[in-house]
Amino acid sequence: MENTCRKAIDIGLRAIAFTEHADHVFSVHQTLRPLDILGYHAEVERCRGLFPGLRILSGVELGEPHRYPGETAAILAGGRLDRVLGSVHCFEWRGRMVDASQLASLRLAEVPDAVRVYFEELWALVGSTQPFDVLAHFDYPKRYWPHAQLSYREGDYEEEIRTVLRGAVAREAVLEMNTTRGEMPERGLCPGPTVLRWWVEEGGRALSFGSDSHEPGKIARGFKLAAQLAEASGFKPNDDPAAFWRR
Ligand SMILES: [Zn+2]
Repeated sequence: MENTCRKAIDIGLRAIAFTEHADHVFSVHQTLRPLDILGYHAEVERCRGLFPGLRILSGVELGEPHRYPGETAAILAGGRLDRVLGSVHCFEWRGRMVDASQLASLRLAEVPDAVRVYFEELWALVGSTQPFDVLAHFDYPKRYWPHAQLSYREGDYEEEIRTVLRGAVAREAVLEMNTTRGEMPERGLCPGPTVLRWWVEEGGRALSFGSDSHEPGKIARGFKLAAQLAEASGFKPNDDPAAFWRR
């Protein structure tokens, strides 16, 4: 966290949010450990003391909180969080939980159906009463889609996608533009221009930028491209560096 703050100052960021993962599907991720939320808050406070010129937002990314209400409540009770993201990584596929990052392990013919189930899981999240402000990496499976063998077309999932977007509008959620550490746009920009257009058409008013960097060297990567796309869709930057873009 300290190294990330140093990097943020180096590249001229005025604010940064550490949206730490709170994931619970231990059967899928063998190395996963429960989030030490008190240790997390202590580290945020330490960094705030070290870097008074940088605005440091606390936050979490709740993974499938609708499946883990008890665990989620315990995380939220651990202290004040400036930003709460909701996300889906895992969904049930043929009787077991899989992470969308494992799409490559499925048969090619199964991949489109698995992605449909992912969007159903995302709908379960959005339709739940679990508290979150920002819907993270909307089309996360796109990162792991076998682009070399199959082309990914949002239009194949338009009904499912628009249903989730409408649900997000109804709960006044903010859509995250996840730039996936600056990876190539067809994989990295989650969502891309098509879904962003649908977001606007369904009444979406706000965007949040996240580089999902996971390491200091990749913070804010891809933000230039995301900003261009957001502006082209009518969203306006905000004087407050920690605020959302709105239209
Ligand atoms: Zn995530």
